[in-house]
Amino acid sequence: MQHFPIFLRLSGRRVVVSGAGRAATAKLRLLLKTDARIVVFGPGPDPDILSWHRDGALRHDARRIEGTDLEGAALLYCASDDPEEDARAAALARRCRIPVNIVDNLEDSDFITPAIVDRDPLFVAIGTEGTAPALARHLKAAIEAQLPGSLGALARIGQAFRPQAERLPPGRMRHAFWSEYFSRRGPCAFARNGEKGARDCLSALLDETAEGGRLAGRVSLVGAGPGDPELLTLKARNRLHEADIVVHDRLVSPQVLELARREAERICAGKKGFGPAWRQESINALMVREARTGRHVVRLKSGDPAVFGRLDEEVEALEAEGIPWEVVPGITAAAGAAADMGVSLTRRGRNSELRILTGNDVDGFAEQDWATLARPGPVAAIYMGKRAAAFLRGRLLMRGAAPSTPVTIVENASRPDKRVVATTLLRLPEALDEAHFPGPVVLMLGILPRDAMRKAELGVEVGQEAV
Ligand code: SAH
Repeated sequence: MQHFPIFLRLSGRRVVVSGAGRAATAKLRLLLKTDARIVVFGPGPDPDILSWHRDGALRHDARRIEGTDLEGAALLYCASDDPEEDARAAALARRCRIPVNIVDNLEDSDFITPAIVDRDPLFVAIGTEGTAPALARHLKAAIEAQLPGSLGALARIGQAFRPQAERLPPGRMRHAFWSEYFSRRGPCAFARNGEKGARDCLSALLDETAEGGRLAGRVSLVGAGPGDPELLTLKARNRLHEADIVVHDRLVSPQVLELARREAERICAGKKGFGPAWRQESINALMVREARTGRHVVRLKSGDPAVFGRLDEEVEALEAEGIPWEVVPGITAAAGAAADMGVSLTRRGRNSELRILTGNDVDGFAEQDWATLARPGPVAAIYMGKRAAAFLRGRLLMRGAAPSTPVTIVENASRPDKRVVATTLLRLPEALDEAHFPGPVVLMLGILPRDAMRKAELGVEVGQEAV
């Protein structure tokens, strides 16, 4: 992040604009929303600037800016449409250490102005580090369309109600109260009866929430998918927005965690391969303890919580303590990998079943029904199979599997750093060693990525190729 987004207090402060043409007018439309004292310097003013000057919204002076004009100013916008004049004005400001924005000159600017969605006092500021103004405009339009026009009024009315709402204990209950007001009841009440409707709704909702007593805590066991945050279900996103505490696996991607409510506590209860681990009992105890205090615990697991996620053990522990729970499914690594490969996991005439296997279980390398897997045709997604690769190959070859059986190694499925490598059963352990895969890997036995599949159909031998 090169530009840190902040909201700067401008009440009563001077903001200076150098230039009085079209570029200046565009900036002034935004600046006039603030209660800063705005001073504009420059000849040949735009008619809008003259009319704002007449109305007293700003002060315009038809000469070029001088150093003394900047004393005590909070910001300077250089918007003269003339690069030399802008550079001169910027140099004056730098001498007095005033932050400068030069219109259409990212390099020499100290700050940039975001695209703004205005629901005063609610503002959404959108920035792209100056790289893609068109994208910012597109997003602004999308957000404008989503935010009801009444939100600003609801926020103002809500703010006035804050002292009363302090009757509710801080944390989950107060959060639930505000979330219900902003997302459901407030907009409806405002639509029906305007400001009075919204105020009445707040009082009624406060009584209801307070009488409802302490809201019970609960645990949502949520699938985070293979890593791409867009692969979360809508329900998973909603749970992340509501969470008081997120207890997550090591494999949950930072981009997914980013979607959790800002105030939510985050605890990584990761188990790393054979490395140091949180004990399962400690995770269970943590969830029970937190839910008992009335918090909403989101137990966030990579992929689908029901696939190699010790879901049953956690649910049993919660049931034993009478803690309400739910499961929110997610996209498992095999599905993410198949999407990256661009192929189907089942196929008429090839395989009518899909196996999901683990390379390791509690006793070490996991034994499977090797005889069935060794026949031509089966497709299996092998999780946690990196270390077990030589063992898998040995068992399958011993049972008569063809050495040329296709295997695709998919690392970091769905993530920007994903790698898809086609190889054969015979070469699998070497392929894993040679290419070195530090990220999570799922081995797709029996299928090739689309490009490699096409080559194989043409009779080109599959070696080891990144796709
Ligand atoms: N519940 C998870 C699996 C957890 S077990 C799911 O449904 O996907 C952990 C194993 O999942 C890893 O060792 C790896 O084999 C696989 N895995 C998880 N995320 C992955 C990803 N993004 N790419 C490839 N494999 C992944």
